[in-house]
Amino acid sequence: MEKLYEGKSKIVYAGPDEWTCYIKYKDTATAGNGAKKEDLPEKGRINAQISNIIFDYLTRYGIKTHMLRFVDPTMILAKKAEIIPLEVVVRNVAAGHFSSRYGVEEGSALKNVVVEYSYKNDDLGDPLICDSQITALGIAEQFELDEIKELALKINELLVRFFDKAGIKLIDFKIELGRYNGEIILCDEISPDCARLWDKTTNEKMDKDRFRRDMGDVMYYYQEILRRVMKANE
Ligand code: 5GP
Repeated sequence: MEKLYEGKSKIVYAGPDEWTCYIKYKDTATAGNGAKKEDLPEKGRINAQISNIIFDYLTRYGIKTHMLRFVDPTMILAKKAEIIPLEVVVRNVAAGHFSSRYGVEEGSALKNVVVEYSYKNDDLGDPLICDSQITALGIAEQFELDEIKELALKINELLVRFFDKAGIKLIDFKIELGRYNGEIILCDEISPDCARLWDKTTNEKMDKDRFRRDMGDVMYYYQEILRRVMKANE
């Protein structure tokens, strides 16, 4: 297979035609822009499965995604979208960089849902970026940003409901979007690698923060997320 791109957690290969690509989920976990790196056996398979269940659920509610089908347990066939180099972060509760940047305790309530953008660029360390900077650099047009924000908020509403059913609080998450056939579609993945997921009753962290912060039992909790989302999806 022809490798088109290798990222920190996925590899993209050319698909059977020009409209599709294969995406392979790796077991590699990284944090701090690659400064911390480790192989976590089964992570690729578990994240691929979790993401697929969530994308399926979102599709049922009218969200368009890149997912076509599984090729094997760690590889999917996806629509080959033109990825918009933005990380779109949605926050329901203060945590992570929001807490450190603005000096608010992790777990603090927010008066409204936050949608923020970072420019996806490893060399620059994915800097925060605002609407007028995005349009000035030609990364996306304002009408696209308006659509992206509406889409992000709709995905958030659907995910909060879904994870609640699974006994999980959705603290925040990151999505990536792409242009495909004149539409903006949801790409990349939604998994514990890119979302903060806390147990609804104990507030136990069940996501990648366990890896970032050396809390241990990373794959135990990822497996538990998979078990719960499978049950919530029944
Ligand atoms: P923060 O900005 O607090 O670091 O992250 C906010 C949310 O977006 C978290 O759920 C985090 O997992 C996700 N996120 C932000 N940047 C990245 C990134 O570069 N890679 C991944 N996998 N997730 C990210």
